[in-house]
Amino acid sequence: MYKYTQICIAISSIILLFKLGKEQNLYFLIGMHTMFLIITYIITHLMEILCPNLKIQKGKDSLKTLFSEYLTGFFPIIIWNSQLITLLTSDYSRSIMNINYAPTDSTLFYLFQIIIQQFSHDIYVFAVHKYILHSKYFWFMHKTHHIKTPSLMTAFTLSVWENAIQSIDLIITANIFGMHNDALMASLTFATMVGLYSHIGYELFPSWWSKCVWTNWYINTSYHDLHHSNGNCNYGYILTCYDKLTGSYKSV
Ligand SMILES: [Zn+2]
Ligand SMILES: [Zn+2]
Repeated sequence: MYKYTQICIAISSIILLFKLGKEQNLYFLIGMHTMFLIITYIITHLMEILCPNLKIQKGKDSLKTLFSEYLTGFFPIIIWNSQLITLLTSDYSRSIMNINYAPTDSTLFYLFQIIIQQFSHDIYVFAVHKYILHSKYFWFMHKTHHIKTPSLMTAFTLSVWENAIQSIDLIITANIFGMHNDALMASLTFATMVGLYSHIGYELFPSWWSKCVWTNWYINTSYHDLHHSNGNCNYGYILTCYDKLTGSYKSV
């Protein structure tokens, strides 16, 4: 039943994508994800060849696992894009939303909006992840993502429901702050990059990073990798302080 619902939503989303095909956000989001999919594939294979010693969980990813992750991730990406595009670009949405489309040349203003939005998104993602998605009632939304040895593609392996619940706050805060559409798109790109970085499966930061109090406020790949292998710690998205405050921080 769960699978069939996802397939139905995927098909209706593809139809929706074609109906809304003239919108600039559509091209941007599809372009961004396609680019990330290709980069993901190249980086994963380059890392395997160039620095196998940096791999967090040893052992080789089987081609079958990678392929099934790509397949599982493909439809949610289309669905996620369609949900966002519908929310951002339909005439009705535009008439009720407080998103600015007029051209502006202030990069600092964009940057400020992105930082404020990501800060609130960090708190939101932590709370939803820890208290809703990991509760027994909503676990079905999140279990698709819980692969014990994450790879870059795991960042995209999210159910329809998880995509919606994890990103809806971005639309809400964009409206509250009266964000510019370009800043919102940049914020979504940043969120995708954080997702990829935390699932890369290789530790790019030095080993002292998570031990030093001056640096371990910011997550590294091992931190989120431990969430996947353990399942009951390190729920944070960017900052580690929420895990520390609520007792779920586990040092790597
Ligand atoms: Zn989780
Ligand atoms: Zn994850």
